[in-house]
Amino acid sequence: GCGICVKKCPFQALDIINLPEELDQPTHRYGQNGFVLYGLPIPVEGKVTGLLGPNGIGKSTSVKILSGSLVPNLGRTDAPVAWKEVLDLYQGTELFDYLLVLSQKNVKVAVKPQYIDQIPKVFSGSVRDLLATTDERGKLDYYIDRLALTAVIDRPITTLSGGELQRVALAACFARDADFYFFDEITPYLDVYQRMAAANLIRELALERPVVIVEHDLAILDMLADTVHIAYGEPAVFGVITHPKGVRVGINQYLEGFLPEENVRFRTYAVTFDARAHAADSDREVLLEFPAMTKRFPQFSLTVDGGEIRSGEVLGVLGANGIGKSTFAQLLAGVLEPDTGAMDTRVRISYKPQYLKGDTEATVEELLRQTTTKFDTSYYQHEILEPLSLAQLLQAPVNTLSGGELQRVAIAICLSRDADLYILDEPSAHLDVEQRVKISRMIRKHAEGRAASTLVIDHDIYVIDMISDRILVFEGEPGINGKAAGPFSMAPGMNRFLEALGITFRRDKSGRPRINKPGSFLDREQMAAGEYYYTE
Ligand code: ADP
Ligand code: ADP
Ligand code: MG
Repeated sequence: GCGICVKKCPFQALDIINLPEELDQPTHRYGQNGFVLYGLPIPVEGKVTGLLGPNGIGKSTSVKILSGSLVPNLGRTDAPVAWKEVLDLYQGTELFDYLLVLSQKNVKVAVKPQYIDQIPKVFSGSVRDLLATTDERGKLDYYIDRLALTAVIDRPITTLSGGELQRVALAACFARDADFYFFDEITPYLDVYQRMAAANLIRELALERPVVIVEHDLAILDMLADTVHIAYGEPAVFGVITHPKGVRVGINQYLEGFLPEENVRFRTYAVTFDARAHAADSDREVLLEFPAMTKRFPQFSLTVDGGEIRSGEVLGVLGANGIGKSTFAQLLAGVLEPDTGAMDTRVRISYKPQYLKGDTEATVEELLRQTTTKFDTSYYQHEILEPLSLAQLLQAPVNTLSGGELQRVAIAICLSRDADLYILDEPSAHLDVEQRVKISRMIRKHAEGRAASTLVIDHDIYVIDMISDRILVFEGEPGINGKAAGPFSMAPGMNRFLEALGITFRRDKSGRPRINKPGSFLDREQMAAGEYYYTE
């Protein structure tokens, strides 16, 4: 609660010492008792402005307002509110000029929407057909090349993978000739290499036009944005957008859970990164050995040298898209048969696939009860439902869940089963930073508590860092061939993966790893020393 508010905190949800002035005047409210938003981010010439906050806190709503698709109602839902009133309110603020041209429809914006899965539902032509309509600056070919879309240019939109669709949506936004650009999440479905490519293109664009981005991958947001607005509050109830902060300071305040300028504590614990690589823990006993295996598809072949997984260990898996990670997971899980080699069928596997269906009308609770007999125990309450914030979702039909909600249910189901090996394919997809931290802790705790092992495939470097004891690195040529190398302990594994990408990380004062500027002194020094992620 917020018993120490100077003014009365309207929501009793946070420790707010001085009520921020933004809370005097709502920007927008959905319906009479609906979600209410305070404040807005400000696009700035020559800068990438980031927006960082949990799911359901009003980030997409702010993008909709600033891109002109939603006229703010100042919290009044009884009668329409005229633009003039909105402008009067913002008179004398940094946003006034922007809102003035927006209200006059004198500004052109380009938006990369959050939910790209909608695109194939409204567009049935080829990638080329779709992108041709967006080529307003004569730079489309450049973006097709930089986003590596040449190979899919004649494919129907409806046949694209998530990562391909995301890059098409990015290219469509980049190619437009707009005064302002908005990107509502750039990394979903992309591998680290593609995330870097998209981030570099956004930095380039920002030299010419103001850019606003929403992003949950903190390593990418950090290298991409100049400033960040933090969005805090109570998801689905209210959200407050802070004034902009320098990106390093802003992200660290976010991890800390405390905003000094606003005097707001919005989380009771801080998120920290261990400065040292995890101990090798080589005294753990070997739980299972996976055999050398091969698997060939018409276009792609995978080779796996055998390896061992230790009891209680979390093995992180890194590698490009299309390099065979999911195929490997399916071979282990027995979903696919290898061409050579064979998994020991006595090993019990619990597997969360990358793409989740969620097409049942059953409720979340019904589904969970089908997978565990422990549903009513306090263990289940504290170790599964609580960290995944599933209590409030239990009665919801599974086919009504958002991507992030479905992901959390799928993680719960995977960890609920009795198994020797738990396999989670991209558990961070669609989750916000808080949820990523929570699932990382939860998966670690779950692994440590039992004689079982866990394999986690993910593209968020911070998640892999937090979650893993050792790392498996997939190498090869995406879409053509892939080979699993390792398992390695953390430092050699990160080095191997990041060396191939040409990225090094340094630590800031708080201990958080940050991507070095390519070619900078530290970048060159660390590459020479072979210290790509963990430094002495
Ligand atoms: P974020 O992008 O931070 O995840 P959103 O801006 O999409 O959050 O949503 C903030 C809140 O507003 C959520 O609780 C969402 O359910 C609600 N909301 C979003 N759009 C609408 C709408 N059109 N009508 C009613 N409520 C909405
Ligand atoms: P990753 O998980 O690393 O992104 P995948 O294992 O999903 O990669 O895919 C590796 C390659 O194998 C891709 O080129 C993909 O198109 C191809 N592939 C995956 N499953 C099949 C399948 N069932 N039939 C044919 N090709 C497949
Ligand atoms: Mg959103």
